[in-house]
Amino acid sequence: MLDQPGPRSTPTFDSSSTSATAPTLPVAPIVALAEGDGIGPEIVAATLRVLEAAGARLDLRPICLGERAYRAGSDNGVPSSGWATLREAAVLLKGPITTPQGGGYKSVNVTLRKKFGLFANLRPCVAYHPFVPTRFPALDVVVVRENEEDTYGGIEHRQTAEVHQCLKLMTRPGCERIVRYAFEYARAHGRKRVTCLTKDNIMKLTDGLFRQVFEQVASEYPELQISHEIVDIGTARLATRPERYDVLVLPNLYGDIVSDVLAELAGSVGLAASANLGERFAMFEAIHGSAPDIAGRDLANPSGLLLAAVMMLDHLDQADVATRITEAWLRTLEDGVVTADIFASQAGQRQVGTREFARAVISRLGEQPKTLTTRRGGVVEVPRTHEHSPAPVKPIKRLVGIDVFLDWDQAGRVPEQLAAQLDLAKVPGLELEMISNRGTTVWPGVRPETWCSDHWRCRFRPTERSRELAPRELIDLLDALVGFDLPPIKTENLYTFDGRPGFSLGQGQ
Ligand code: NAD
Repeated sequence: MLDQPGPRSTPTFDSSSTSATAPTLPVAPIVALAEGDGIGPEIVAATLRVLEAAGARLDLRPICLGERAYRAGSDNGVPSSGWATLREAAVLLKGPITTPQGGGYKSVNVTLRKKFGLFANLRPCVAYHPFVPTRFPALDVVVVRENEEDTYGGIEHRQTAEVHQCLKLMTRPGCERIVRYAFEYARAHGRKRVTCLTKDNIMKLTDGLFRQVFEQVASEYPELQISHEIVDIGTARLATRPERYDVLVLPNLYGDIVSDVLAELAGSVGLAASANLGERFAMFEAIHGSAPDIAGRDLANPSGLLLAAVMMLDHLDQADVATRITEAWLRTLEDGVVTADIFASQAGQRQVGTREFARAVISRLGEQPKTLTTRRGGVVEVPRTHEHSPAPVKPIKRLVGIDVFLDWDQAGRVPEQLAAQLDLAKVPGLELEMISNRGTTVWPGVRPETWCSDHWRCRFRPTERSRELAPRELIDLLDALVGFDLPPIKTENLYTFDGRPGFSLGQGQ
């Protein structure tokens, strides 16, 4: 068992929930607090000072996540005894964490998102023109990122000398709840448009599912405009005309990238906050990492974490405190008090360190911003039970073929030679339909200019195409391939669902 590494510092404020002398005070919600690594301790300390001064009612329970837990033997950066605190708290305010490279370590964030079902990642990106330099004064985009699926399952394999693969898994319920969350968010915050970004022109089944669900759920929100863009051109347009966008909903990987792009466009990655929301747990953090290059130098901008704490206060029904902090923070920016990441030598600007920035915010508590608006990203609570559309009637699933993957590296890597060898191993009733290499069909119709790796997908279908296969026939085929020294490295069964193929064609097929 892993020893629980103790927290480096213990926050001092609010223990009203345990005070015997103040029984009438509302019970302060329990919040697990992790200061994190790198700049984490500095920005957490600054944030706590502001929260305390603003009168946040929180029962903070420090836990140690990250580097020290990894060093103490945890493979996921969470000490075993930290789980009890997390479960008791149901809310975590977290500083950024350094993920060790290599060595089989898992990311704390991915672990917590999966463990607590934090499927929704909310990242508001706003310009604070003219007080934070940006080329896009009207930028005000909320990114709703799916947080659990896609390639982030980290299911990877090396299959041949040359080829590594990563599985991209998308589920209908997973797509539906994030898309519905995005529409609920847009509705609750008076937003006008929801845009979905995918690469469904290439990934027709996985990204295609996300888009299909988006268009289905959209019909329940007729007051909202919708659009879909391919993620590459969509990101290019975001980077040049972000004011055209309002709420974005994206699969995990695209959401991760796009939200960093938007945060930088708004002025600094140090300004953006995020909420990770599930049915029973919520985690609040800045979107940036542990910034080891500036750690310990009083240079870090604590705003991303402070704004995450503001989202947390909204989540904990302390909108009064959230408003007070937001107003003081905006006023601080208006007064030109900024950290190094956004300092631009503008007239009236004064560069300060992390600690002084926090003091500047505290000294403005109770003041209002003069020009900036206080519209907050806020959160929309996640329903306690999954609200999926009624389950469609289960589709009729028929086995109609198999893709057999081979590690084959004979001289010249000539697809026709491989096809000839496969012909020797053929079993009655099954025939080779195509061979593809890195997705491109290379047999039949060999194109000599197509470079081939040592990784081959060989598709077998019943000779009579409309016939359903028995699983036994697949075993016979694999057996025959092994007998002809063509051992499969992986197989994928091919199914139709209500007669529609549940598999992609080879490119060029
Ligand atoms: P990073 O976000 O830590 O730093 C990128 C750049 O932005 C650096 O130049 C840094 O100085 C600057 N920066 C970041 N936050 C800042 C702030 N608050 N104020 C001023 N400048 C700031 O990204 P990275 O260097 O790629 O990652 C460092 C580590 O953080 C890695 O181990 C990575 O895995 C981890 N990480 C953690 C989280 C998280 O815990 N949520 C998120 C991203 C990265």
